[in-house]
Amino acid sequence: MSHDLFEAARGAMAFAHAPYSKFPVGAAIRAEDGKVYTGANIENLSFPQGWCAEPTAISAMIMGGAKKIVEMAVIAEKLPLCPPCGGCRQKISEFASKGTKIYLCDETGVKKTMTMDELLPFSFETELG
Ligand SMILES: [Zn+2]
Repeated sequence: MSHDLFEAARGAMAFAHAPYSKFPVGAAIRAEDGKVYTGANIENLSFPQGWCAEPTAISAMIMGGAKKIVEMAVIAEKLPLCPPCGGCRQKISEFASKGTKIYLCDETGVKKTMTMDELLPFSFETELG
């Protein structure tokens, strides 16, 4: 992974709206168009209405006109590495392939690299997908 993806994820984390959990998370996607799309978690006073950093980055990618995640970095300020939650794994898999690399980072850099298939093995698939 080139350093710019990590820096993008770390930079995105600064935009987190996390007044309740105080747990900022950042995510950055390199898409098939070569561009980097970022996101942060956005909490809400009505807790279930908040969402994670990964879908924010996916939304940015889709609205930027890209459809395929080539690689992705996720970072949380307060964890040594931040694996995407279960729901996010499904969301990421919609736009990733089994071999897509997901980098789990702390503030200093990549701590663990996993593939989509390692993060979400035996994932939901249909003839439609
Ligand atoms: Zn999540």
